Amino acid sequence: MAYDWGVNERTPFVDAHLDLAHNVLDNGLDLTLPLEELRRQHPEGDVPTVTLPALREAGAALVFATLFASPYHPEHSPTGYRTPDEAHDWAWRQLELYRQWEREGRVRVITSRDELEKHLKAWESDGVTGLLVLMEGADPIRTPDELGFWADAGVRIVGPAWGGTRYAGGSWGDIGGLSELGRELMAAMQKEPRVALDASHLSEQSFWEAVGLYDGPLLASHSNARRFVNSERHLTDEMIAKIGERDGVIGTVLYNAFLVEGWQRGDERPGLEAIESNMARVAELIGWERVGIGSDFDGGFGARETPAPIDRPADLRRLEEVLPAGAFPGVIGGNWLRWLRSWLP
Ligand SMILES: [Zn+2]
Repeated sequence: MAYDWGVNERTPFVDAHLDLAHNVLDNGLDLTLPLEELRRQHPEGDVPTVTLPALREAGAALVFATLFASPYHPEHSPTGYRTPDEAHDWAWRQLELYRQWEREGRVRVITSRDELEKHLKAWESDGVTGLLVLMEGADPIRTPDELGFWADAGVRIVGPAWGGTRYAGGSWGDIGGLSELGRELMAAMQKEPRVALDASHLSEQSFWEAVGLYDGPLLASHSNARRFVNSERHLTDEMIAKIGERDGVIGTVLYNAFLVEGWQRGDERPGLEAIESNMARVAELIGWERVGIGSDFDGGFGARETPAPIDRPADLRRLEEVLPAGAFPGVIGGNWLRWLRSWLP
């Protein structure tokens, strides 16, 4: 065997995109359960991939945990938010869940470099996963001057779009540029050093307008290369290059339809090489030190829709088998940690 699993297991694993609170509060999953127990409780539908114990078993040092409120849609999201106030309250309940988990000793919420370093030290002995709070879709920020309120509350990353929002064209629906409100949000973010900009889900037009107005810390928490799957959801070579130029990191999404053009539910699962191909494309453009994981596990798909043999977070450690020598520790987590250390307050 070419590697030592013992060393691998102690290398911090960072996942830059998990909709944990959304899955608890909106989808009714109890993420405090062992994964097998959660699967027993939900025999129908998507097979769950993530619980807090499963993250701990995987050696997940840090997860970017989202505040994700879905907008109202008559078929897809009949209980979704219809007003900025509703979006705000929804995201707040999700943030309160993360704080509740922290009080229960299940996670540590990280908001500063100092907390990160103390947490990583503690993680080596107690294995408790850290959470960094990421807002996916900025509608919960009722007006741009409320950005400071969310930063005070611990939000460290904001992605303005999902589908189109009041702020920006997104991956579907409105794929146009920034709105007037979106330009104001970029100005507010430019003045708020505690919050980074997540380019994931921004439409191509919104992306270029945003990076023209904002030059603070930039990432794509969960986006793949458009070279493999041609959709507004993914990054062109030029967008990837721009994120690299800003010293950002890009998390690979582990959803088969985002890795293999035309893949559909029920098709045979691709193997680890599908993940490696996407990562290698990003690395070719901006270097392996800017490649990370943003799995989006359970973000609208389950374990059957991820590459084989990835059935749970711990299986990501098998990426060491397909990545070039030396790339693994950075990709599994080191690159995200370096990026955070470069700007966290
Ligand atoms: Zn997403």
